[in-house]
Amino acid sequence: MIHDNPQRQKPLALVVDDDLSLRIPMGAALKKSGFNVIEAENGHQALDLFTSQGPDLVLLDVMMPEMDGFETCTAIRGLARGLHTQILMVTGLDDTVSIEKAFEAGANDFVSKPINWTMLSHRARYMLRAGKAFEELNRNRNRLAKTQELAKLGNWQIDLGTKEFNCSREACRLLGLTPATGVTFLDFLSPIPKHKREMVKNQIDKAITELKTFALSYPILLSDAPRKHILNQGEIVFNEKGVPELMLGVVQDITQLKQAEEEIRLLAFYDGLTGLANRMLFLDRVDQAIIQAKRYQRIFALLFINLDRFKRINDTLGHHAGDLLLKQVARDLSKSIRGCDSASKGNAQRADCMIARLGGDEFTILLSNINTPEDAALVARRIIRKITEVHTLDDHEISVTTSIGISLFPQDGEETDTLLKNADSAMYHAKENGRNNYQFYTEALNRKAMERFNIERDLKEALEKDQLVLYYQPQMDLNSRKIIGAEALIRWIHPEKGLIPPNKFIPIAEESGQIIEINKWVLKTACRQNRQWRESDLPYIRMAVNLSGYKLADQGIVETVTSALENESMAPDSLEIEITENILMQDTRATISTLERLKAMNLRISLDDFGTGYSSLSYLTSFPVDAIKIDRSFVMECTTNEKNLVVIKAIIAMGRSLGKTLVAEGIETEEQLELIRHHGCDQAQGYYFSPPVPEDKFSELLAQDRI
Ligand code: C2E
Ligand code: MG
Ligand code: MG
Repeated sequence: MIHDNPQRQKPLALVVDDDLSLRIPMGAALKKSGFNVIEAENGHQALDLFTSQGPDLVLLDVMMPEMDGFETCTAIRGLARGLHTQILMVTGLDDTVSIEKAFEAGANDFVSKPINWTMLSHRARYMLRAGKAFEELNRNRNRLAKTQELAKLGNWQIDLGTKEFNCSREACRLLGLTPATGVTFLDFLSPIPKHKREMVKNQIDKAITELKTFALSYPILLSDAPRKHILNQGEIVFNEKGVPELMLGVVQDITQLKQAEEEIRLLAFYDGLTGLANRMLFLDRVDQAIIQAKRYQRIFALLFINLDRFKRINDTLGHHAGDLLLKQVARDLSKSIRGCDSASKGNAQRADCMIARLGGDEFTILLSNINTPEDAALVARRIIRKITEVHTLDDHEISVTTSIGISLFPQDGEETDTLLKNADSAMYHAKENGRNNYQFYTEALNRKAMERFNIERDLKEALEKDQLVLYYQPQMDLNSRKIIGAEALIRWIHPEKGLIPPNKFIPIAEESGQIIEINKWVLKTACRQNRQWRESDLPYIRMAVNLSGYKLADQGIVETVTSALENESMAPDSLEIEITENILMQDTRATISTLERLKAMNLRISLDDFGTGYSSLSYLTSFPVDAIKIDRSFVMECTTNEKNLVVIKAIIAMGRSLGKTLVAEGIETEEQLELIRHHGCDQAQGYYFSPPVPEDKFSELLAQDRI
């Protein structure tokens, strides 16, 4: 290695020759041109000196006894420090064989005897300079490789003339390619995911065609390593004449940078505990929602959610439990949004729907995709129901409630701050209102909301405290004019509000899921009533019950029916199930299969309120329905409104052709009765015969009917 010894000012030359008469002038010539000189008289000595002193230049005679110059040269090259030393062979003969042998042995150059001493010193100096340059180059190359490795940087180039592609070892390493295989441009692109590969190739091609720079960042997939992110930049290199020569590129592993970026983004915009958006992101989203809503003249809602008495949980169960609860609540909120029909069908972080945690136990939701305030109320009710479910925290089962405030754009504010402030104050209103409820900022909306909310809350108690009763309305056979059945119609005897009709609470029960319990209770109670009448001395009639609710198939109806029939030893064909077209329309396949199972048990099925839904004909043919109940709205004006009569006649004709029994609902007058009988209806119900009555009254009707 050159300048191994820092003390050594002059370069060191080793002169190796067995002939002293030549060694002396050689040494003298070299000394004259600025070298320090050491001498060896044979190959072995030369190797020893080489090892101990590390000369910069070796002048090596070819013809020596024992170990000749070629062997010595080879041996020097075999030494660690001998790899790049300049070796000048002194050949006695000017023949090509020796010259070739000298180069083969690793010599850098040769001189032949007789030696021109002036030339020798020039050549020695020149070799030394070339050696230094080579050494420097080599060192730089190594440093560059090392630096590139440290920087996770590789380079590549395309020769614009030959189109030849080359890439560095580090580039191959980064891209998981084996350099030995001779990497092509396509190999170089191969780790890029398929859907992006073409784009990257096109961009590079374009940069080449337009002689421009490019910078692309993209992920790469490696078989044995996690996904990496690569930055690939390139530019055109022109030769001294200004002709484009190369596309020179560097690839850099920026995976860590990307991860850091992502972490920064998460820290800046997301809540660390729950992973929900934070205040900053949320407010930004509300700003956007305002712009959108203004442009499309839409409304949106902001929900402000606060857990009730959260501090108590933190204080009694500790912060860990508190944190767990907040995470669970975050999940509950996401679920409440996801299931929401009108508010969101996708995930909770969609553009039109966002949940955020503002801090502590304060959460907010932006609902952009709503049509009416009621849609926001529906989500609020869902949240309250979901959060009221029991939470398990560190083996403790706790019940939590929440208070929600709702503000609406534009009526409660046209700016983000105002909307948030008003949702917040509505939330406080909900707290003042006894917690575990929601409030709109606009007072007028609250009355309806409160009423609904109270019904849902009280209904829980109604089921537990036997406040529900069944009334029965006779179903008449129009030929015999006898009662052939009873339709069980539910009533709620509210301790304060008195008798509440089903229209006031069934839709709420359907939404809250309480309908499942109600359906079970109705089935059981109606079957029990049927048994009582059967066991008294009254005409035996069929019992019809109304079943409704979301996903009838999931309610375990078949099992409930089976056990109700068994408990009361009731014949299945004495039980009739009334369902509406709406039920048929949801989840059709599952509904068909439930109905078919009921049908297979020999139950009767009738389609209630026919003509008011969207289904009609196609449903009639595909569902196992025995009877069609023509909706009251058609019967009501059939004697005065020609159009209604047309509909009734059409329904009757259609029902007849499909072999269904036809029942008219809501007969109030003799004329209506005559008219529908005239047109071929089989059965009827209505105030004309009797309104729905309590069971004792119905017994009287049955007793009269016996006569
Ligand atoms: P629906 O099954 O079509 O019941 C017929 C409704 O029309 C009953 O109202 C009945 O009182 C009323 N009605 C009968 N004849 C006349 C008449 O001549 N004139 C007038 N103006 N009305 C008449 P109700 O009992 O208030 O029930 C309303 C709806 O609530 C029912 O419609 C049914 O869809 C639902 N419903 C009632 N009981 C239950 C139940 O136990 N479970 C379920 N899921 N829904 C029920
Ligand atoms: Mg009915
Ligand atoms: Mg009806």
